[in-house]
Amino acid sequence: KPLTVGITGGIGSGKTTVAKIFSILGVPIYFADDRAKWLMGNDPILISKIKESFGEESFSESGELNRKYLAEKVFADTEKTKQINALVHPAVGKDFEVWVALQNAPYVLKEAALLFETGSYKQLDQVINVSAPLKLRVSRVLMRDPQRTEKQINDIIDKQLPDEEKNEKADFVIKNTENKLLIPQVLKIHQALKTKADSGQI
Ligand code: ATP
Repeated sequence: KPLTVGITGGIGSGKTTVAKIFSILGVPIYFADDRAKWLMGNDPILISKIKESFGEESFSESGELNRKYLAEKVFADTEKTKQINALVHPAVGKDFEVWVALQNAPYVLKEAALLFETGSYKQLDQVINVSAPLKLRVSRVLMRDPQRTEKQINDIIDKQLPDEEKNEKADFVIKNTENKLLIPQVLKIHQALKTKADSGQI
């Protein structure tokens, strides 16, 4: 079984960009946030649980997830956020385990925005945090998603663990401030993880 490694980072830190560099090196990547969205629309057990807790309106008549309805219901309400997470996270956890068992590699990556916040890091052997200064992160997101406001981005940041705390909890930190420094950091961690996997250190 491959070593399981989480890759996380606050909004705009560049975790997806970094994950894609690992992917070029041949590392299998599980994009947990994308997969969660997919499961919410396609996993029959999860779908029935969502309908039970959030109403039939959570899905359209044609069976598509009503993201707008759910987002409005959930985002401003911490209890409801907990409730939906309690449904989605175990489904993603199981789906991840099945996926890992199918991979043939020394280690695999699980990319997710909230690995520490949700506790799902406990399921992983190692964690990488992608770190960048707050201002730079906000400006990257504004460039990438021009429809978003600074207030919306700050609301998301408020729900995420501060970067410093994530850096402390992580086994590896990638500082994503300058493009040219990114690949050497990735290569170093790639080597370290391969060595760990080979030696069965974890
Ligand atoms: P989110 O949590 O919103 O999904 P993320 O952490 O996955 O964000 P990315 O989508 O990888 O972040 O990066 C945010 C934006 O910043 C993207 O448009 C990406 O191309 C850009 N970016 C990331 N790293 C760098 C870099 N080193 N130099 C220049 N642009 C970068």
